[in-house]
Amino acid sequence: MGTGRLSIDLSAIVSNWKALASLARTEAAPVVKADAYGLGVGPVARALAEAGARRFFVAYAEEGFALRRALGPGPEILVLGGHMEGDARLLAECGLTPMLNSVEQLTRHLESMPEQPFGLQLDTGMNRLGFEWAEWAAVAEIALSQAPVLLMSHLACADEPDHPMNPYQLDLFRQMTDGLNVPRSLSATGGILLGPDYHFDLVRPGIGLYGGLPFEHAQPVVALDLPVIQVRELQEGEVAGYGNTWQAQRPSRLATVAAGYADGLLRSLSHRLTLWNGDKPCPAVGRVSMDLLIVDVTDLDGTPEALTILGPKQGIDRLGESAGTIGYEVLTSLGSRYARAYRG
Ligand SMILES: *Cc1c(COP(=O)(O)O)cnc(C)c1O
Repeated sequence: MGTGRLSIDLSAIVSNWKALASLARTEAAPVVKADAYGLGVGPVARALAEAGARRFFVAYAEEGFALRRALGPGPEILVLGGHMEGDARLLAECGLTPMLNSVEQLTRHLESMPEQPFGLQLDTGMNRLGFEWAEWAAVAEIALSQAPVLLMSHLACADEPDHPMNPYQLDLFRQMTDGLNVPRSLSATGGILLGPDYHFDLVRPGIGLYGGLPFEHAQPVVALDLPVIQVRELQEGEVAGYGNTWQAQRPSRLATVAAGYADGLLRSLSHRLTLWNGDKPCPAVGRVSMDLLIVDVTDLDGTPEALTILGPKQGIDRLGESAGTIGYEVLTSLGSRYARAYRG
């Protein structure tokens, strides 16, 4: 076995989904964009569908195609990017529901496929996707006459519970949608944790399903072990890795392990990364290279066959912090070279 072993716990994903749905006391539609945050949209979505999920979100129509193939007919697939030029055939053939986000998209949709269900996105201040106040005022009547399946908006600062942007966006969303008698959705994982005012009829958890912050009580989902390819003894003063950026301060034993920045272990982790042998930390030394890491195992008794980079001692958020990023980016960067094993 040459490559790292990435273990993905599907039953933990299902538990996290159930926990978030019961917190929200409403329907929780899993967000499985970007190949289910890098974990594999087929196995992840099938596990959630078997557990009872009826609606799923993806970012693009192309992702909806892959998801429809994985799920078969039945579950509703909503496309956050809406209806882009050239999407009509894919939307029709795969039975996808675009979340229209501009007057241009609304026009395109109603002209090209008026029978195809759609939802609408409203911008409440994030300025990323959706109808703004004045646009919405202009088209709401026409749009609502075509029976949209969902009105949604997205929070910009939901991972900061005390941020004044949260109540501001909530208030605006209410003003734009109160009394319209269409199901509503405002919250992703962070918004679910802000409390019942933010839940409406549907929530859209992504990262929380996959074990990431801000869902602190998430069950961990991924584990990643990297096999040791070679071990060597260094004398004090010898150097290791590209650019000679690390020098042994004592007689040292170094293990070379099988993963690098081509596997999502960002080069910015150089000199900031720790791997684990059970509960014993082993610092990576020198620069992260494309396929390899060098790890100081001097303080271990023996030499293990593999070292753990994601596990009980270090989850996606801690690794993300070391890399100067967030758990989301760690997950979606994991790459395709690992041997993946799905549990549960
Ligand atoms: C990605 C995304 C989500 C899921 O967000 P998480 O923070 O991962 O829970 C929900 N809604 C929209 C519009 C998104 O873009």
